[in-house]
Amino acid sequence: MNEAAVFSRLNQLQNDLSIRFALEEEIARLPRDLKVKQELLDTINLDYIDEHTRSEVAKVELKNLGYQYEDAVQARDKSERNMELITTQREFEALEKEIKDAAAKEQSLLKQLHVKEKQVQEFEMRLTEKEELMALQKSEVDAEASKIDALLAEKQQELAEVGARCESYIDDEITPDLYAKFSNIVKNKKGKGIVPVHGLVCQGCHIILPVQFVNSVRDGKGVEFCPYCSRILYWEDVEGADEKFIAGRVDSEADLGDFVEEGEFDDVL
Ligand SMILES: [Zn+2]
Repeated sequence: MNEAAVFSRLNQLQNDLSIRFALEEEIARLPRDLKVKQELLDTINLDYIDEHTRSEVAKVELKNLGYQYEDAVQARDKSERNMELITTQREFEALEKEIKDAAAKEQSLLKQLHVKEKQVQEFEMRLTEKEELMALQKSEVDAEASKIDALLAEKQQELAEVGARCESYIDDEITPDLYAKFSNIVKNKKGKGIVPVHGLVCQGCHIILPVQFVNSVRDGKGVEFCPYCSRILYWEDVEGADEKFIAGRVDSEADLGDFVEEGEFDDVL
């Protein structure tokens, strides 16, 4: 097993996995943008329905006022015609009052009729405005929906390609098990699933590792996972790393008993 080659391939796989996860997130987010526009359209629709209901009520009220007005006109006409039939002063006074009352009622109804007519016209205007707004929002939703459909198809295609590319890394060295573990680490650790060890320090979580463990990472005889952050580790020579390694070995020799075996942290992956 050529460890250097494996680590380099894991690094490439990490890049492809990051692209894959970003695509998956993008695909999940796309319909949400449309949802906001759709919700606005729903609100406008409901508002229109409310306004339409109020408008219909006003139309019925207008019709009723019309009938009441016609009745009032007829009542006044009838009282006026009765004028010709009266004979006494008392009858005259009673009828005169009746005509006056009928005329007042007629005038009052006419006034209400005009107010209601204006209200109905205003409703019509507002409904027309709302219809235009609805049509505009609807065309925006439709345009957005077809844009998102096209974009989704494109992103799904990209995802299928990068998914296939990721899986092409699986072989004797990057086994299905290692691939699955590594995918989870990259996903959970925001794209960083493989990190170097400098001296005794994991460059993923910056915790000092046990010397014996770092020794096996340095030997590169197999894939080692950081016991603290679960990332895959590889040895990287940096300036002063050896000095730090030696200094750390003296400091932490006493702690070796606390070292966590690999199997014990499998569950955090
Ligand atoms: Zn770590």
